[in-house]
Amino acid sequence: METVSLTGKELAAAINADTAERAAALTSGGRAPRLSLVVANDDPASAWYVNSLRKAAGRLGIDCDTVDLGADASADTIRSELSTRSADPETDAIMLQTPLPAGVHLDDVSSAIAAVKDVDGVSPLSLGLLATGLDGFVPATAEAVVELLTHHQIPLSGQHVAVVGRSNVVGKPLAQLLLARNATVTVCHSRTTDLAAVTSTADVVVAAAGRIGLISGEHVGSGAVVVDVGTNEAPDGGIVGDVDVDTVRGVASALSPVPGGVGPVTTALLMRHVVVAAENARTA
Ligand code: NAP
Repeated sequence: METVSLTGKELAAAINADTAERAAALTSGGRAPRLSLVVANDDPASAWYVNSLRKAAGRLGIDCDTVDLGADASADTIRSELSTRSADPETDAIMLQTPLPAGVHLDDVSSAIAAVKDVDGVSPLSLGLLATGLDGFVPATAEAVVELLTHHQIPLSGQHVAVVGRSNVVGKPLAQLLLARNATVTVCHSRTTDLAAVTSTADVVVAAAGRIGLISGEHVGSGAVVVDVGTNEAPDGGIVGDVDVDTVRGVASALSPVPGGVGPVTTALLMRHVVVAAENARTA
């Protein structure tokens, strides 16, 4: 079977073109949209991601500042910074980078991000709005999966989607978004007994576990669609997903590449959220 590549680059380019136009309109209206990235780690992967967000923002006409609190920042320090940024009228959008310092949990600090500036939808309020179907910012990676599938005209209504991973930033919000599209959703995790028995019955498999090679040919039903959210450091230093491409290619009808699939759409959606937050602030 031919396995089509679900690339994200064209979709990301279209989203970015719209975002750049809206950012330019905001700038000519008085002030460029502004994103604050709050960092409390010395993790190289996080530094790489922050740098790529800064570059993406710069290309689109979005101002971006980074607040580095250090890898030993306390929960109180992080919460205080997030509260200050939330109250600052010059800051339109806030993103808190992970990992956080040892002993600090995202749920302990993310509630200090004002929902109107929570562009990656991580706070309990944003996640609650999503779960109840109310307006709010949705975690960009979860949204990117749905947008990528929609862009490639993969039907979701009535389809069985197996999501592998149940984190608050990817798996759980993705399940909510898929339910809103009338998919029948199974959420799998590390305690799922016989993962392959579940995923191989799905029309769409989304791998979001952060485990190299977790999803192989035996996990995928013939002709199913596979979306690879994983971004893992390969032994050679490159980035690989959760899917064992060699065994899945030829079984799946479509597969998203890593890199070049979910990743560019995620970044594009984050930047779109920044512009939406800024537009909302100007009209509030
Ligand atoms: P996470 O918080 O570590 O969660 C991983 C999830 O996978 C957990 O729910 C875990 O189950 C489950 N899992 C782990 N091993 C498993 C196994 N052997 N079988 C079944 N389930 C298993 O990770 P995350 O933040 O959700 O991120 C997931 C992946 O997406 C990572 O590779 C991350 O780098 C990537 N990511 C990509 C983007 C992008 O834009 N492309 C953005 C964000 C994240 P338990 O709950 O039982 O522990």
